[in-house]
Amino acid sequence: MIDRFRAILVRKPADTSTAEVVELGLDELMDGDVTVAVSHSSVNYKDGLAVTGGAPVVRRFPMVPGIDLAGVVEESTSAHFRSGDKILVNGFGLSETHYGGYAQKARLRGEWLIPLPEAFSAAEAMAIGTAGYTAMLSVMALEERGINPASGPILVTGAAGGVGSIAIALLAKLGYRVIASTGRLHEDVYLKELGASEILSRAELSDNPKPLGKERWAGAVDSVGSKTLANVLAGTKYGGAVAACGLAQGMDLPASVAPFILRGVSLLGVESVYAPIKRRLAAWSRLARDLDPEKLAAMSRTISLAEVFGAAEDILAGRVRGRLVVDLSR
Ligand code: NDP
Repeated sequence: MIDRFRAILVRKPADTSTAEVVELGLDELMDGDVTVAVSHSSVNYKDGLAVTGGAPVVRRFPMVPGIDLAGVVEESTSAHFRSGDKILVNGFGLSETHYGGYAQKARLRGEWLIPLPEAFSAAEAMAIGTAGYTAMLSVMALEERGINPASGPILVTGAAGGVGSIAIALLAKLGYRVIASTGRLHEDVYLKELGASEILSRAELSDNPKPLGKERWAGAVDSVGSKTLANVLAGTKYGGAVAACGLAQGMDLPASVAPFILRGVSLLGVESVYAPIKRRLAAWSRLARDLDPEKLAAMSRTISLAEVFGAAEDILAGRVRGRLVVDLSR
């Protein structure tokens, strides 16, 4: 086992110049009962915030960012994992209070790990990452509320982003008619290849909302929040449901209660970071069944550790299409 390895380290709050690739030793890792050789991580919106210091994601300094990781267990005193096991982790405070996935080694608590599903390589699991696992949780939330393909079309906002791209692929495979809302209308071919039937301009949903609008969709997966989410609610059909998982436009929600009390619309909160293991396992087994591997490959690109800095700027500026995988060997 090598004991020196490469990692990104963020040293101080809100100072991008302090994030750099460094060499760490095993003795510098945080406490945990499982040591993992990390082969892949990914870039999510939250990683963009942590690496650039743009918003308070990191709550302890110095910090290795990266909310996702996949790799192989090297040493373990956990009852549930042994040396050689392939695993993945999403969230659980990685990059916030515990060193995360932008390092070739990680020391973790066994209860955060899940076995890598047989359907996926480590690289594919990270192409899915927190974004894809959250898209799956969002679809499950709609289903649990009784939404099905016969209910009507499903709107996906932030469509060309990570959560959006995977939500479209999942919903299309499940037989839904998908309306994709994007600010990147030139990505229409990409979005239609993922399974969208209709493209809606982001501008149509980002202005001041009316309490109620025309009933247009039976449900939605919203990764945008703010005025967009208010407009999404106002356009949801009677008895429909909206899974809210993101804040790409903003954290506010300038909505009225009209969709809830006049149309019985449900607003469903989706949280991935501290979701219980049982729920994670359910989501990952659904991903193995319901995500087309060719679509996953079409929406993903692999980068090196050093390229994470540029990718962090790009994802916050809405310039990343689909998903970015970080190959820790590069
Ligand atoms: P991405 O940046 O990949 O996707 C976000 C997309 O939102 C962009 O690609 C863009 O899509 C759209 N967008 C960006 N800025 C704006 C804007 N100002 N107004 C309207 N639309 C905008 O990020 P992720 O997919 O990784 O994450 C999406 C959101 O979900 C983030 O807010 C993230 O924090 C949240 N999230 C929450 C989780 C949870 O546990 N609840 C877990 C994972 C993510 P387009 O160009 O197509 O319009």
